Amino acid sequence: MPELPEIEAMARTLQPLVEGRRILGCRVIHPVVTKGRARAVLEAKGRTVVSVERRGKYLLLALDRGWLALHFRLSGQLLWYERRHAPKHVDVALDFAQGTLGFVDRRHLGRVYWLDRPEDIPGLARMGVDPMSAEFTPERLGEILRESRRAVKLVLMDQGKIAGLGNIWTSESLWRARIDPRRRADRLTEAETRRLAGTVVGVVRRAIESCLDPAPNFRDPDWWFEGGDRAIRVYDREGKRCPRCGTAIERIAQGGRSTYYCPGCQTKARKGALQRARRGER
Ligand SMILES: [Zn+2]
Repeated sequence: MPELPEIEAMARTLQPLVEGRRILGCRVIHPVVTKGRARAVLEAKGRTVVSVERRGKYLLLALDRGWLALHFRLSGQLLWYERRHAPKHVDVALDFAQGTLGFVDRRHLGRVYWLDRPEDIPGLARMGVDPMSAEFTPERLGEILRESRRAVKLVLMDQGKIAGLGNIWTSESLWRARIDPRRRADRLTEAETRRLAGTVVGVVRRAIESCLDPAPNFRDPDWWFEGGDRAIRVYDREGKRCPRCGTAIERIAQGGRSTYYCPGCQTKARKGALQRARRGER
């Protein structure tokens, strides 16, 4: 599932293709992705794309009147093609003079909304602080964590608290900060919170760079963020060695999702044991 870095990379790649250009035609092929509001989405026809933006995990097209909001869920993607060579599973198609932009999802779980204002859907109205924004400070993260007794990983993934992070980049941020993902959010020390705020920003920045190298190829239906893997140390690496301490990475379930972490350098008990072992104590 694309998260903040992947969607940011898509937005930046899409900008030169559509900004300032007029939507000559709009077709809704699978109305399910519009949640029954296909006719509203057709309003995009004749409008000009003013800008392409990302908010949390949403990709927004700001039009000269109204907005299109895209949410990719598990398998949504963008494809750019010539209309007569349309790929499979296109849900919504936007025709420009230079080509057609398709929102494509073989499972049709993604969403495309037409909005008068972005705040018109709850997911955007109640969005938490974005790690790319100036408001994301150690102090703000501390306030968010102190409000919750849930596991820190689940708080980081809560879109109403922090916008844009999912399973991959929260696992990576916690590994970089050497924090056990199961720790209660309100029990993190000030030093840990400060460290975590820094690693979240660092991980997200590095991930965006990796996701842009190579940039998304909207012409290839099989394309995925190959470069993104370079920024990954623990996610989906169960049983492989932690690049920091050599312990085998473990996978656990949290909130119905997989968390990957290193029991060697992210948990207190083992960390203590390792330190004692290094000092030659028993
Ligand atoms: Zn480790």
